[in-house]
Amino acid sequence: ALAAEEGFDPEDIGDLNADAGPLPVLAIVGRPNVGKSSLVNRIIGRREAVVEDKPGVTRDRVQYEATWNGRRFQIVDTGGWELDVFGLDAMVAAQAEVGIENADAVLFVVDATVGSTDADEALVKLVRKSGKPVVLCANKVDGLSGEADAAMLWSLGLGEPYCVSALHGRGSGDLLDAILAKLPPAPEQRFGGEAVGGPRRVALIGRPNVGKSSLLNKVAKEDRVVVNEVAGTTRDPVDELIELGGKTWKFIDTAGIRRRVHQTAGADFYASLRTAAALEKAEVAVVLIDASETLAEQDTRIISMAVESGRAVVVAYNKWDQIDEERRYYLEREIETDLVQVQWAPRVNVSALTGRHMEKLVPAIETALEGWETRIPTARLNAFLGELVAAHPHPVRGGKQPRILFGTQAGAKPPRFVLFASGFIEAGYRRFVERRLREEFGFVGTPISISVRVRE
Ligand code: GDP
Repeated sequence: ALAAEEGFDPEDIGDLNADAGPLPVLAIVGRPNVGKSSLVNRIIGRREAVVEDKPGVTRDRVQYEATWNGRRFQIVDTGGWELDVFGLDAMVAAQAEVGIENADAVLFVVDATVGSTDADEALVKLVRKSGKPVVLCANKVDGLSGEADAAMLWSLGLGEPYCVSALHGRGSGDLLDAILAKLPPAPEQRFGGEAVGGPRRVALIGRPNVGKSSLLNKVAKEDRVVVNEVAGTTRDPVDELIELGGKTWKFIDTAGIRRRVHQTAGADFYASLRTAAALEKAEVAVVLIDASETLAEQDTRIISMAVESGRAVVVAYNKWDQIDEERRYYLEREIETDLVQVQWAPRVNVSALTGRHMEKLVPAIETALEGWETRIPTARLNAFLGELVAAHPHPVRGGKQPRILFGTQAGAKPPRFVLFASGFIEAGYRRFVERRLREEFGFVGTPISISVRVRE
């Protein structure tokens, strides 16, 4: 719907609705030239959306939004490859593998006029291994003889081949019905109408007495609380819409912050559940720390929760009005030693009491969200990895030198990378790669994850 109405470049849609986004995801898998792109065009009803489907063209997994019978879903075309650099098969397989893992269902496209090839069989293995529901599409079935060809595809063991002609549109309705039967419901059905692209969701977290409710009152007072409903949001009495820096933000579970919870036995436990629940609903966490006191174990535990939740993170030091030179010196040491795990997070030094540096909060949140949503094109990532590996090879172990062969970004929010390697990559080298990735591409304010898969 977004694409059709607002004339987006479909490549941008992926950024609005990243892999981890709320729409159900269909991965399209198939060899080059089987007609995946024409099929995608058919499904999304646009002619101009797709680049040419030919081997040797560097292309990323491309994402589109589609609607059928009033149900929205996302299509990820897994056909990215780089023939020249690493060899076609390896890269296709790697991209397809990652695409399949991130999907709710798989559309497997075969060229009925060619029949199943060794490459098709290899892809079938991947799909099977994933355990994802799959729909088999026999494309280029333009007439009766084509249907006989298509019948041969039962041998792939993926069930009934749905005959279509992506070029002429034949059979695409039945195919779409079959696809939707395998996809989970769209978020409208799941969450009661929470729209993608509504206000950004912020969790303000921190141990008791660091100043969460003071900060909330300060920002809500100075910049008018928005009481009326904003289009596309669900009403949730514990969340609050607050206008800050010219934008509306949704602060999660403000009721839990405003209501002073009594310090009874087990309060800690419930506070921690509450923090986890707020993180679950949020996109970005603002972790508030009382700068006037020595960093407590509870502070680092809350930071760990934020990092592990995979949300964007901003660290805000409150009560800065109470900081003298000496405390500042020790605070810097504490940050170096105890907060290494969030070295990458933007940091603001504020005072909820005086209002100091309140205006820096929004830019910090925006920077963190930007890092969180970053997508690195596969070609750029691999150019970077190629240089990195050439300049700093992995140490030789047992006479062998493991090498990173290539990589792909499996998703965003937060950025997740999958690297394919020729052997076991040591933890130290992984950390080195992460550090260099951050130096190269930023990722300010976001955790990133890197997993390595060994190809023999
Ligand atoms: P919460 O439990 O995290 O919501 O913390 P509160 O907002 O209730 O604040 C705890 C105490 O710290 C209160 O007495 C506040 O007045 C005080 N406080 C909060 N922010 C600041 C600040 O920036 N400077 C100073 N000096 N005191 C603050």
